[in-house]
Amino acid sequence: MAQEIAIQDYKLVIDGQLVDSATGETFETVSPANNEIVGRVAKASPEDVNRAVAAARKAFDDGRWSRMPPIERAKRMRRVANILRERVDELARIETLNCGKIIVESRADVLNSAACFDYYANLAGQIWGETIPMNGPLFDYTVREPVGVCAQIIPWNFPMLMAAWKLGPALASGNTVILKPASHTPITAVLLGQICLEAGIPDGVMNVLPGPGSTIGPALCEHPDVDKVAFTGETKTGRSIIRSSAGTIKKVSLELGGKSPNIVFPDADINEAVNGSLFSVFTNAGQRCTARTRLFLHESIHDQFMSDFVARTAGIRIGDPLNWTTQMGPVISPNQCDRVLSYVQMAREGGADLAHGGRRVPDEAFATGNYVEPTVFDHVTNDMPIAQEEVFGPVLAVIPFKTDEDVVRMANDTIYGLAATIWTNDIKRAHRLAASIRAGNISINYPTVNPPEAPFGGFKQSGIGRELSRHAMDLYTQVKNVVVNLDEKPFDWYGNWPADPRP
Ligand code: NAD
Repeated sequence: MAQEIAIQDYKLVIDGQLVDSATGETFETVSPANNEIVGRVAKASPEDVNRAVAAARKAFDDGRWSRMPPIERAKRMRRVANILRERVDELARIETLNCGKIIVESRADVLNSAACFDYYANLAGQIWGETIPMNGPLFDYTVREPVGVCAQIIPWNFPMLMAAWKLGPALASGNTVILKPASHTPITAVLLGQICLEAGIPDGVMNVLPGPGSTIGPALCEHPDVDKVAFTGETKTGRSIIRSSAGTIKKVSLELGGKSPNIVFPDADINEAVNGSLFSVFTNAGQRCTARTRLFLHESIHDQFMSDFVARTAGIRIGDPLNWTTQMGPVISPNQCDRVLSYVQMAREGGADLAHGGRRVPDEAFATGNYVEPTVFDHVTNDMPIAQEEVFGPVLAVIPFKTDEDVVRMANDTIYGLAATIWTNDIKRAHRLAASIRAGNISINYPTVNPPEAPFGGFKQSGIGRELSRHAMDLYTQVKNVVVNLDEKPFDWYGNWPADPRP
């Protein structure tokens, strides 16, 4: 795909400055649409982790942000939101160039990031404690204080939005941050760091370290001056984060993978279910942790649903993600492309029926990019790798079912528990199923929803903690209890010892 690109240099953001890495090393970042270079980025080293942590520690400890009046913190966060909206066209274009998602989705991501900053700006002044009735002459209250220095490690599938989800609650509650973007998609994180400075967020409060997860990640997780690690990414990496954070007993929150079920009952509005199912598996070329990648179809509507669904899949317009008419772009990298195709191969060998796609997009115009056809496998069984493992590409596994009990059992038969969708017009069945499925996010007659107001996170091996909503403020604050003695009689345990203390 031809794209006109001015290659730019991007630096680390440490202590309010744009700086080279300590080693002077850089790495190239490319466009998934053609694998051509779109930027040269300073490559953070463990020494840069020490520099950034020292800056974030100092900025936290001297209270320049945590003790700033909440109304002022909120004002600066709203400025970030306003700058994002003012620069939406430019930022969306850069996001698309760097991560390959279609421009329509990148634009939505930038605007949703702005909405996230606004939402949390509104919560900055609403971090309340409690007063607790005591059984004695005591007055007891709690306050919520920021956790401290937070390392935030994010993936490549929603580079700016994942940063906003983490920065919003962390900054609103007065923490300082070191943001580590994924190596594939560092650019908008660096720009966000610059925007935070421009908006008046003080030096050292928001630092950005692009660099390899294998070195920067553990260096952040093991650092004694980092109080908390917030991570979004693969479940396998999440396990390694828990291990590397164990030595210093960090607070850890994790948003991990999913293999979410999408269940269609015969009483559903089938047309709406087809539309919603297409959206929930093929947007962002399937690279969505909440992608509904297992479609459970009741056997009585299977044929009707599939004929419509496959026809609609075939109609999805693949192309240059910068083109406004394109409906599906490339996957992130040649490796990801190979990984997706290896699952296709496994599914074929395992006996699933290929109903659509299954190849690299054959058109010569797509040859230099990482394009995979939207792919649908029918008659999958729930034990196949394609139904159990995260493919992270535009690949759907269709599994027919007979009874409610069967489908609940299969939906829950996975290590993941991130999300699920239920399509039915039977209100009792809808709520029964919502209660039976072990996942953190259930949508009924709706594909997927993640606005800042609603909590988001996983059951089982899909994560620990809830992002978004007021719940995310709990991840970034800790409760302090304060008790006050109101008794007029002076406290004197030893002096007031009775002659005979026996009851
Ligand atoms: P990944 O786990 O490979 O990488 C995520 C981040 O972790 C990157 O910044 C990477 O550099 C860093 N990293 C790698 N090794 C590390 C280590 N040992 N220690 C610390 N950090 C390390 O994930 P990805 O491939 O970038 O993203 C795709 C994954 O993210 C999928 O599994 C998807 O389901 C998941 N995801 C989850 C959510 C959610 O909210 N649940 C949202 C988006 C993506």
